[in-house]
Amino acid sequence: MIIKPKIRGFICTNAHPVGCAASVQQQIHYVQSQGALSVKPKNVLVIGCSTGYGLASRITAAFAGGASTLGVCFEKPPTETKTGTAGWYNTAAFHQQAKAAGLYAKTLNGDAFSNEIKQQTIDLIKADLGQVDLVIYSLASPRRSDPVTGEVYKSTLKPVGQAYTTKTYDTDKDKIHDIALEPANEDEIQQTIKVMGGEDWELWLNALDEAGVLAQGCVTTAYTYIGKQLTWPIYGQATIGKAKEDLDRAAKAIIATKARLKIRAYVSSLKALVTQASSAIPVMPLYISLIYKVMKEEGTHEGCIEQIYGLFSEKLLADQPITDDMQRLRMDGKETNDATQAKIKALWDQVTQENFHELSDYAGYHHEFIKLFGFDVSGVDYDAEVDPLVEW
Ligand code: NAD
Repeated sequence: MIIKPKIRGFICTNAHPVGCAASVQQQIHYVQSQGALSVKPKNVLVIGCSTGYGLASRITAAFAGGASTLGVCFEKPPTETKTGTAGWYNTAAFHQQAKAAGLYAKTLNGDAFSNEIKQQTIDLIKADLGQVDLVIYSLASPRRSDPVTGEVYKSTLKPVGQAYTTKTYDTDKDKIHDIALEPANEDEIQQTIKVMGGEDWELWLNALDEAGVLAQGCVTTAYTYIGKQLTWPIYGQATIGKAKEDLDRAAKAIIATKARLKIRAYVSSLKALVTQASSAIPVMPLYISLIYKVMKEEGTHEGCIEQIYGLFSEKLLADQPITDDMQRLRMDGKETNDATQAKIKALWDQVTQENFHELSDYAGYHHEFIKLFGFDVSGVDYDAEVDPLVEW
């Protein structure tokens, strides 16, 4: 079939296998061009391995660290008539490249919140790797089924405490408009913490520890976004921010309960960029279009792979990395420093429907957005017939 992007609201409902493969290849080239990591992980588990920051983590561990990688993701396979999800094709491409490079790579496709997937992961580690020395937790999900009670929790993107009205950009209608967000109630806050907080990260580490598959001195990290004043009302100090605060609690609990392993557990704060998860958050497409403009002009623009290569090479694997006062690893400084934020705020205050495309880098945002699904990737012939049926 010939595959062109089908965009509905903030998602693209199809994906291009050749484009996804080319995009994975570009990320591999990037880390290879930066050079091998000086501290190399050996056996790495990436939970949420197929897109965004998790995929970049897997690529960095494997192609800059020579690591064996075991991934967990939740992706849809293709059929004769419908393409698979981007994460499916990314994973297929990653497997192919890892195999060609002689690197171990296996992926479990299923619900990472479930006990079954945790057990299957443990069984695979025991059979193939023995132990893991790095565990990356990079899930982004709108819901979670409790593995014991079966109760389904849903995350909400709402302010906490008071209503908030702000500008947003509707990518579907190409329109800047005000959006009024009512504050979340206590149940919505607690459900969001259940989905995106630290409980499942802790359950993973507990299960791996009980099975004896965590190596002595193992490192683990979960990813967060902290941001600054412009995004705090809808992110940092909102329902999702409350969930992310719970990661700090979980990191401490993981360190305390696994002291005999001398485990290092960090929350790593990364910059805002276009991924399937962030494009669904109100305000983010506008904010990201503006930071792309400012950071590209400053020469500080980075994507997932640059952020994660930086995290792995400078902080995550170091013996005593510099942390903030909450013991978090910070990779977001180029975005959140006061000078850059002041430039973004100045644009934010000026931006209107009329000047949006001039003041922002929406073209860059849109390019990155469709690239997530394998479209608009350089060197790919989008008029050529492709077989959607790709396996791993
Ligand atoms: P993403 O949507 O690109 O990736 C999510 C991953 O989770 C995919 O691999 C998906 O298959 C997997 N997944 C989702 N539900 C699953 C389930 N039930 N079982 C197994 N796998 C499942 O998201 P992303 O933006 O890369 O986010 C990853 C983490 O990084 C999140 O914690 C997010 O909050 C954080 N983060 C994102 C940004 C940003 O701007 N995108 C910034 C800082 C931090």
